[in-house]
Amino acid sequence: MSLANKLAEERRLRLAAERLLEQKQAELFAANRKLGQHARKLSDEIVETRAEVENVRGENQRVKSDFTAAHQKIEVAERRLWHSIETIQDGFAFFDVDSRMIAANNSYLSVFDGLEEIAPGVSYIRILQLATGEGIVNIGDKKPADWRAMMMQRWQSPTPEPVVIRLWNEQYIKLIDQRGHGGDVVSLALNITETIRYEKELRDARERAEAANRAKSSFLANMSHEIRTPMNGVIGMAELLRDTVLDDEQKLYVDTIKNSGEALLVIINDVLDYSKIEAEKLVLHPEPFDLERCIHEIVMLPQPAARDKGIDTLVDYDLFLPTVFVGDPGRIRQVLTNLIGNAVKFTLEGHVLVRVVGFQQENSADTQIHITVEDTGIGISADKMDLIFGEFNQVEDERNRQFEGTGLGLAISEKLIGMMGGSIWVDSEEGQGSCFGFRVTMETTDTDTDAAPGLPGNIRNVMIVDDLEVNRLILSKQIEALGAHVLSLANGRDALAALDDTIDLVMTDHNMPEMDGLEFARAVRERGLEMPIILISSNSAAADNDPSLSCINGVLQKPTPRRELFRAIQLNTGTPPDAHAAAPEAPNQIDKSKKRAMRILAAEDNKTNQLVFRKMVKSLDIDLQFAGNGLEAVQLFKDYEPDVIFMDISMPKMDGKEATQEIRALERETGGHVPIVALTAHAMDGDRDGILAAGLDHYLTKPLRKAEIFAMIGETCPPDARPVIPVSGRAVS
Ligand code: ADP
Repeated sequence: MSLANKLAEERRLRLAAERLLEQKQAELFAANRKLGQHARKLSDEIVETRAEVENVRGENQRVKSDFTAAHQKIEVAERRLWHSIETIQDGFAFFDVDSRMIAANNSYLSVFDGLEEIAPGVSYIRILQLATGEGIVNIGDKKPADWRAMMMQRWQSPTPEPVVIRLWNEQYIKLIDQRGHGGDVVSLALNITETIRYEKELRDARERAEAANRAKSSFLANMSHEIRTPMNGVIGMAELLRDTVLDDEQKLYVDTIKNSGEALLVIINDVLDYSKIEAEKLVLHPEPFDLERCIHEIVMLPQPAARDKGIDTLVDYDLFLPTVFVGDPGRIRQVLTNLIGNAVKFTLEGHVLVRVVGFQQENSADTQIHITVEDTGIGISADKMDLIFGEFNQVEDERNRQFEGTGLGLAISEKLIGMMGGSIWVDSEEGQGSCFGFRVTMETTDTDTDAAPGLPGNIRNVMIVDDLEVNRLILSKQIEALGAHVLSLANGRDALAALDDTIDLVMTDHNMPEMDGLEFARAVRERGLEMPIILISSNSAAADNDPSLSCINGVLQKPTPRRELFRAIQLNTGTPPDAHAAAPEAPNQIDKSKKRAMRILAAEDNKTNQLVFRKMVKSLDIDLQFAGNGLEAVQLFKDYEPDVIFMDISMPKMDGKEATQEIRALERETGGHVPIVALTAHAMDGDRDGILAAGLDHYLTKPLRKAEIFAMIGETCPPDARPVIPVSGRAVS
């Protein structure tokens, strides 16, 4: 190889080596730079980590101090909680899921005073064992094992029922245990000794009150009996004395005795009724009764007082309402007597109107009846209205003080209507008048549709003359409903002016200003008019001796039940009366030889009452015997064969109930059934049922009323005896 070639080769190799070197240097430089970068990154990371570590350390410090604070707080809370739990007087304990005590307050532990075993860790069953074993609980007649079993069973239930245990020292503890979610039980032991003592006191007091109430009821029953018996003598004798020849002064004295006696009886009855309702002893006795008749009878009671004051009493009984309903007639009568009596009592002029309307309920025999008693009296001030249904509440003011009363009537009425499932209310304006109303639902048994039989065909135009507008309205409504045309006028003068022979019937009020009903009738006749005239009077007796009476065809007593109104129209307008309306046989037409006298036996031990009875029936054509006790009554039943027996209930030797039972026993052998009427002074309820259960058929309460005795005798008179007619011909009072 040439040198040149060698040199070239060498240069080439050197260049190659230099290039390699350069390259290696470059690589080395790059590696260096990378290393530098890495070292910088590492150092950054170290700085960062160090900062973080610092941070975490600070955080740790904070957490640690928070934790300490929280711990302190928990300790304070726990201390306070325990302090509180210790402060309460009731026992408090926790048990774990295995029924071991975790903790308990001192009250809880103090029950087991001195027993070291009762401490945290003790099991519930062990507590029960110690409680029975040491006699801490008073388990009465129970066996300890049974008692513990019962307590354990309760404890294990998911929701234990509270239980009351009695301790040896007569303390009563109510245990209330509550199971938590984890199975722990919180146990509360409340000391309820005071409550139990209080309850016992209340129970004792209630028993004492009930005993006192029973004593009061029987005292009232006895008092009622004791007072009624002599009252029978007083009222009965006064009634009899009234029928003898007396001068005016003596009449006044007798009337005062009778009225005061009656007033005293009202008070006794009110007080009795009220206490019976209070003691829930009052029972309703529903039976069918004629509501319309009942209202008319009640309206008649205060008639004398109403007449004296010139007050008109009116009844507006819904024309299409049935009259027979099922209810307690005695109690309905009592409410109505009170409302109507009050209305008359508290009204000095104007009128008292009883309005009866009813709504038949669909698909049922029940009828809702509204009865209102409206008056034009002194009224009641708004602030007193809430009080009047309270007991012994009378409106206390000057105007009211002149009226007598017990202040019990409305309280009793409200309770009675409440017992019937109805309601009672009042609307009133002072000085204008009051309207008392009540609503009850009663079943009707009335299928009688002849309440409104229609007018005779020849009556098309009817003239009504009455100064009182309500009266004209009621009467017009009733007559128009029968299909006649009504011409209604307020006084005789206008009526005369309007009257001509197109009028078929005149119905005129009796008592009218200027020209009264009889004067008007006379004037009609003087004009030569012949149509029938019916006088409607609230005091028909006053017309008895009036010569103008010949000008009228019939008299109706006001207020008039619808049936009587229709009958009077029929009778006085040429329509023949029905068979029932035939006049009764006059006494002198009876052939006494054919029939025997009715035999009446009265069993009554009290001589005064015997005398009262004898005098009461003296006007009757009867044969009367007395028995002085039950034994005599039974004997006379056999010997005398009475048609009816009036039987006093309390009698010596054998009382009325026993005597009746004997008589009924005899009748079972011989057949027959003599009506026996109980005469009793016992007005308390329960008597009635007891008496009727003993076999008596009827029941009359003393003091006896002539009318009731007469009605009873009339009802029981047998066909083979002479009809019982007052021999003097005097009307039955
Ligand atoms: P009494 O009539 O025996 O006083 P009540 O309980 O029947 O008792 O009535 C209570 C009171 O209500 C009466 O005293 C009277 O003040 C008032 N009162 C009742 N009815 C009427 C009435 N129709 N008009 C005015 N006040 C009446």
